[in-house]
Amino acid sequence: MSELLFLSIFAAIGLNLFPRHDGAVVELIGQRVLEPVVRASGNTLRIDFNEPVEWLETASLPIWIDRLTADSSGLTIEFDLLIASADWALSGDSMVMIVFARAEEEILLPPVAWQAPPAPPDTSLWSDSLVFAALERGEGSPWLVDFDCIVVDPGHGGRDPGAVGRSGSREKDRTLEISLMVRDLLRIRLPELRVVLTRTVDEYVSLGARTRMANRNRADLFVSIHCNAAVNRSANGFETYFLSRARTDDARAVQMLENNVLELDEISTVPEDPLSFLLADMAQSIFQNQSSHLAGAIQSSFSHAFPVRRDRGVKRAGFYVLRGAYMPAVLVEVGFISNPEEEQGLKSLDFRFKAAQAIVESIVEYAERES
Ligand SMILES: [Zn+2]
Repeated sequence: MSELLFLSIFAAIGLNLFPRHDGAVVELIGQRVLEPVVRASGNTLRIDFNEPVEWLETASLPIWIDRLTADSSGLTIEFDLLIASADWALSGDSMVMIVFARAEEEILLPPVAWQAPPAPPDTSLWSDSLVFAALERGEGSPWLVDFDCIVVDPGHGGRDPGAVGRSGSREKDRTLEISLMVRDLLRIRLPELRVVLTRTVDEYVSLGARTRMANRNRADLFVSIHCNAAVNRSANGFETYFLSRARTDDARAVQMLENNVLELDEISTVPEDPLSFLLADMAQSIFQNQSSHLAGAIQSSFSHAFPVRRDRGVKRAGFYVLRGAYMPAVLVEVGFISNPEEEQGLKSLDFRFKAAQAIVESIVEYAERES
């Protein structure tokens, strides 16, 4: 009844299933090139491959899936809710399918061609009332997963120092110190929340591994912490990004700076074609409202914490580290390590504590709003 799409993926296949507020993510991970044919109808999703596959791991069945049958020719998933839409995205070495299931009535998937730019997701289908109706029926909608896990990502690390200040401060050290404080403060403010750091020591973690960690942990939020740098030493202030195509030259410059680490990544097959960018971008665009809301909350917390510093606002850019995160995700630039005054600030415990506190306050506000 609905949709066919073709996609080359890499055939021993691993399977992961992530529940999300907005639906579900089906992640297929493999190394051989395959052409899956996807049919979605009602609550059933069927994926057929053009050659036999071997499943590496069978995911234990989450409550939001009624039945899962994996055989050598493909995969059938019966969801406990109707499928509103399904889209593919390619993320580094994995293929990812995103399924939305918030419709009360059957909605047939519109034809989606792999080669064509995807239509923006129809957010009108995700009215909260459907979810509330499910809750009133006492179903404890599996789609409303509690806000129970956050991944905090200290930018850079190991052989990637990030930006380095004039007096020798390295971005990777400052971001780790702030992130550890964020973790400790969150444990006090939100004791029920599971806080995962992408690194807790000075080690190199590839950008792809950071978001994979967030996906594996079923995180509800991904917060990446960085320090800014600019050729102009007087540039100063704090800004928060969410994933989108860069809109201004400044945002493009920051994007280039933070994406530079890709050269250090051992995986040189980072998808750089515009299509995979578009799809990864689309995956994040689903969480765009939540991400931009959190970005705004972080900016206003920083304004309160640092009334004399410059609020550079909420910005959009195409950060690689935010791509592939199937959850709301933001990147905070707490200050300019290239600005001598802010570099001094970043070296002081008081400054870093205030920054960590500002981030935590906005996460607490976000958590209250989301749960
Ligand atoms: Zn950085």
